[in-house]
Amino acid sequence: MTAAELTLGGPALEQVRRVVTEIPGPRSRELARRRTDALPAGLTSGAEIYAAAGGGGVLVDVDGNSFIDLGSGIAVTTVGNSAPRVVERATAQLQHFTHTCFLATPYEPYIEVAEALNRLTPGTHAKRTALFNTGSEAVENAVKYARAATGRSAVVTFDHAFHGRTLMTMTMTAKNQPYKHSFGPFAPEVYRAPMAYPYRWPSGADRAADEAFEQFRLLIDAQVGADQVACVVVEPIQGEGGFIVPADGFLRRIADFCRDRGILVVADEVQTGIGRTGAWFACEHEGLVPDLIVTAKGLAGGFPLAAVTGRAEIMDRAHPGGIGGTYSGNPAACAAALGVLETIEAEHLLERAQEIGTLMLRELREIGTRNPVVGEVRGRGAMIAVELVEPGTTTPNREAVAKIARYCQNHGVLTLTAGTFGNVLRFLPPLSISDELLAEAFSVLRDAFATL
Ligand SMILES: *Cc1c(COP(=O)(O)O)cnc(C)c1O
Repeated sequence: MTAAELTLGGPALEQVRRVVTEIPGPRSRELARRRTDALPAGLTSGAEIYAAAGGGGVLVDVDGNSFIDLGSGIAVTTVGNSAPRVVERATAQLQHFTHTCFLATPYEPYIEVAEALNRLTPGTHAKRTALFNTGSEAVENAVKYARAATGRSAVVTFDHAFHGRTLMTMTMTAKNQPYKHSFGPFAPEVYRAPMAYPYRWPSGADRAADEAFEQFRLLIDAQVGADQVACVVVEPIQGEGGFIVPADGFLRRIADFCRDRGILVVADEVQTGIGRTGAWFACEHEGLVPDLIVTAKGLAGGFPLAAVTGRAEIMDRAHPGGIGGTYSGNPAACAAALGVLETIEAEHLLERAQEIGTLMLRELREIGTRNPVVGEVRGRGAMIAVELVEPGTTTPNREAVAKIARYCQNHGVLTLTAGTFGNVLRFLPPLSISDELLAEAFSVLRDAFATL
């Protein structure tokens, strides 16, 4: 089959792994040449193949190679690429109108998305939702809401955090390369606390929660001053940082501490939210009810849409006209989001995320027993990672991750990497993937480890 014969993506796409050319194939190589002439050199991509169609659990490239997708476009096509309800609703909306600007002439789909998020997010308190285009933009606006409501300016984030690439969110992001290097000066009033990262906590995983919390407390009470802190922003499972699941109890202690001091807790669920971890939101695994919760990636199945959902009394404090954007809450993106939420409910995808997680954990632990480069396997639901180290140490092994990702790509499996030290392989398959494809992908992964 060639790309020209491919008419449609979506779940009807043949669910196979098939490599019919060398990788990358001739058409992808031709696009790479054009790209070199047209795009800035620093705008890079993980894979060397160019997409032609996607759906179910596969992505087909312009040369007709069919890859098993273990990345979902970085946790975006959680319900599958071109999922029928997403396509139908967005298409219907596009035929009515493409844009009016909600700030100029409002429309119903925006309100429907807000109502749905108010209903689905943790906590039974009165909530409000404002929509944006990207995760970064939404995190940045969550900070604006928190500052307006508290009258305070400081923002506390964590080691290994990723919150985006705009000036404020780049500042909040922990990792210098590639996100911050040469792009300063950064925004003021951003402070960083240690993350209770069990695998790398110096005095051992058992002490991570207590000791990280103590350092967090000292940072706020002794250094910044609690009455200066508007909010603490935290990913309930750190995404780019390497799928770090905070030590048990750490997030709850932070939340209790913040409540005592009038500091708002903002959960950045851009990567973890919308069913990815087997619950609607990863906060729920910890019994955490944040004051503000930020969603994006999986929210609209690939359309640019992001949201801040928060306590009504906080969200209502920002003054009229202070928050918004030309495209924020685009009607087609809102329609797509309604299709996503409907798909998760109708197809019981929270349960499916749990099943996929169980399967991936089993496979990766199995690989771990036979490969001393595996330092830790961790994650929740369909958000699982493996951290690779030099055998017998905890020294990050970035080379092994790069080799495995390349082997997988060359054998028809798309993976993603992550981690402050670049030594984490992360798995974020679409929830529409079949067990058969998932098992096949992990058999390729086993072979990849065997080549190390
Ligand atoms: C991806 C991501 C962001 C930034 O989202 P963009 O849409 O790329 O701006 C923010 N926070 C987390 C946790 C993310 O994973």
